[in-house]
Amino acid sequence: MPEKKLDNCIFCKIVAGQIPSKVIYDDDDFIAFHDINPAAPIHFLIVPKKHISTLSDCDDSHAALLGKMMLLAPKLAQQQGCGYEVDGNGSGTGGFKALFNTGPDGGQEVYHLHLHVIGGPRPWRGRTIVAA
Ligand code: 5GP
Ligand code: ZN
Repeated sequence: MPEKKLDNCIFCKIVAGQIPSKVIYDDDDFIAFHDINPAAPIHFLIVPKKHISTLSDCDDSHAALLGKMMLLAPKLAQQQGCGYEVDGNGSGTGGFKALFNTGPDGGQEVYHLHLHVIGGPRPWRGRTIVAA
C-alpha cells in the first residue's frame, strides 16, 4: 500500500508547501485547494496528506479517512458557496458533484487520491456524468 510521501508526486509537493496552491482548508489529515483548471465556477480538491495513489488502493484500514474526506465535501462546499440547501417549503437549491476519478479509464491524471468537489451554476446541465 503506497502511503509514503513521493518525491515526484505533485500533490505531495502541494501538501509539503513546495508548490503553491489556493488552500481553502488544512488540518492534520487533509488539505483542500482550488483546482488549477476548474471545470465549473467552484472546483476544489480534498486531498489526504498521506500519499495514497487511488481509491482502489484503499482498504478497510482507510474507512475512517475516507469517511472524514466525504464529510468534508458538503462542509467546504457550503463555505465555498455551493452548499445544498432546502428551504421551508422543501425546495432544494445549490449543490455540487463529488467525484473520485480512478485509473486511466476513470480519467485520473494525478495519482494521489483526491476528491473533486464541483459546483456553481450547472455547466454540466443535461449530462449525468461530467469529466473533471
Ligand atoms: P484527476 O484527473 O487526477 O482526477 O484530477 C487532477 C486534477 O488536479 C485536475 O483537475 C487538475 O486540473 C488538477 N491539478 C493538476 N495539477 C495541479 C496543480 O499543480 N495545482 C492545482 N491546484 N491543481 C492541479
Ligand atoms: Zn502524493
